[in-house]
Amino acid sequence: MTSQNSAILREVFGYEAFRGPQQAIVEHVVAGGDALVLMPTGGGKSLCYQIPAIARQRAGRGIAVVVSPLIALMHDQVGALREAGVAAAFLNSTLDWEQTQDVERRLLRGEITLLYAAPERVTTPRFLSQLDALHARGQLSLFAIDEAHCVSQWGHDFRPEYRALTVLHERYAGVPRIALTATADALTRADIIERLQLEEARLFISSFDRPNIRYSIVEKKDATTQLLRFIEGEHEGDAGVVYCQSRKRVEDVAQTLQDAGINALPYHAGLNAALRQTHQDRFLREEGVVMVATIAFGMGIDKPDVRFVAHLDMPKNIEGYYQETGRAGRDGLPADAWMVYGLQDVVNQARMIDESPAGDDFKRVMRGKLDALLSLAEASDCRRVRLLGYFGETYERASSDAGPPQGGHGPLGGQRGHEVPSVGATCGNCDNCLNPPEVWDGTDAARKLLSTIYRVQQMSGISFGAGHIMDILRGKTTEKITQFGHASLSTFGIGAGFSETQLRGVLRQLIATGALSVDAQAFNTLQLTEGSRAVLRGEQNVQLRESVTTPAARKSRRGG
Ligand code: ADP
Ligand code: ZN
Repeated sequence: MTSQNSAILREVFGYEAFRGPQQAIVEHVVAGGDALVLMPTGGGKSLCYQIPAIARQRAGRGIAVVVSPLIALMHDQVGALREAGVAAAFLNSTLDWEQTQDVERRLLRGEITLLYAAPERVTTPRFLSQLDALHARGQLSLFAIDEAHCVSQWGHDFRPEYRALTVLHERYAGVPRIALTATADALTRADIIERLQLEEARLFISSFDRPNIRYSIVEKKDATTQLLRFIEGEHEGDAGVVYCQSRKRVEDVAQTLQDAGINALPYHAGLNAALRQTHQDRFLREEGVVMVATIAFGMGIDKPDVRFVAHLDMPKNIEGYYQETGRAGRDGLPADAWMVYGLQDVVNQARMIDESPAGDDFKRVMRGKLDALLSLAEASDCRRVRLLGYFGETYERASSDAGPPQGGHGPLGGQRGHEVPSVGATCGNCDNCLNPPEVWDGTDAARKLLSTIYRVQQMSGISFGAGHIMDILRGKTTEKITQFGHASLSTFGIGAGFSETQLRGVLRQLIATGALSVDAQAFNTLQLTEGSRAVLRGEQNVQLRESVTTPAARKSRRGG
């Protein structure tokens, strides 16, 4: 069996050897087992179901159905398979009635090996009755569910249509299923297993490390200028993606880059479809295009030589960050994941969660995920160790020759995710490893900030925002301070020795660790939390990174 799979790999796809866990996965699925595959983008997930589909078809077991939410990707894959001589087809909204009927006829005649279909198509009564007919003849060989995280509302791309896919298991119990995703923290993973009823499936987890990506997170000052300097200094003429939160900002940033002579294009859902397509095509075909985009851009876009992904605004959570930064350097060559972030990002994200119509449980989970991202941003130790630790992986330096770890953790193996990752490990390829930031003890500043917030609340009966609190602590006499008589507070001016940058850092850290919260319902005012006490009592140290500007030394990597 092994040699048959290798033969397909060689003869159909032209590859010499399986990568990482591919072989084990292929063997397991060819033999009829269910599988859940967690593999980073570019890891080679497609072969994990394409080869079993071909092998099982050759063994007389009929067709494989691949559920995929991305039309563009479906077209690419079907095109590539056909070129390789594999009978592949797709069913989605781009086909007209005649084309659809043609595919269905070929399907029922057993002329198709791999059929790609959108999730909403798979669960229609019409399609199910066709599957019934194939099933009755023993001609349904496999279900592959791509982008399986779409089934989870905790994932970053929830698609309700995915929920209905349980019908595949219920209706065709004996047909093996393989679900695949490039992103899944412990919670999402558990949700996929539960929602798709994959309790019996074998779990295959690849390392999520992307060693060629250099992670840097810097403090936001003037984001656009910082970006310009970053591109001009390190990525002149390179292809890259710049993520911004709003359409307006996408337009502004794209314009600024263009004015600076950079080949930049905007992309967001507010542009008409034709223009979006043109920009996407140019990004894929031309050299060195910088796409300035909202997160509407990127899913399913396979461009190997993206040299940097920049975030001008903070994503919602670590999964989003990982997914978006993962679009850099698919070719394995050095690439940058660069983000600027500041207090305002924290406030904005917290507000979006609070203002969303979701229930309290959902909001709590989202807050937890935001906090985890904030901790990553505020970290003064290795970013990679933290990032991988979030996905339940312990980073071990350069032992990757032995191949990535596989399976065997049990379905909830990722619950390890909340353990502290191996302390002191370093990757040598993130900002903190390359230029360890100065760390200063912010415990005193944190206590002074929290007690100011407490006293102000006591005195005025209302809460205030970060700016006002910092003004009091630094002893400024503003109109607002006069108006509320806050100069009479015992904490007025006792933090005059701290810079505003330092205090902002402390505030971010306090919010990141939950020792302070931002009330979006009440003008982004700062509120004490349960977690404030330990800091106030001096039981909890607050270590902060001294904000350092991007060192020029980084240029040397590019030989410039
Ligand atoms: P994913 O879906 O996990 O992002 P793909 O299946 O698109 O990844 O594979 C990424 C790239 O790696 C593709 O260009 C694919 O052809 C290539 N690839 C996958 N497996 C192998 C292999 N065993 N040997 C060589 N190249 C491979
Ligand atoms: Zn590192």
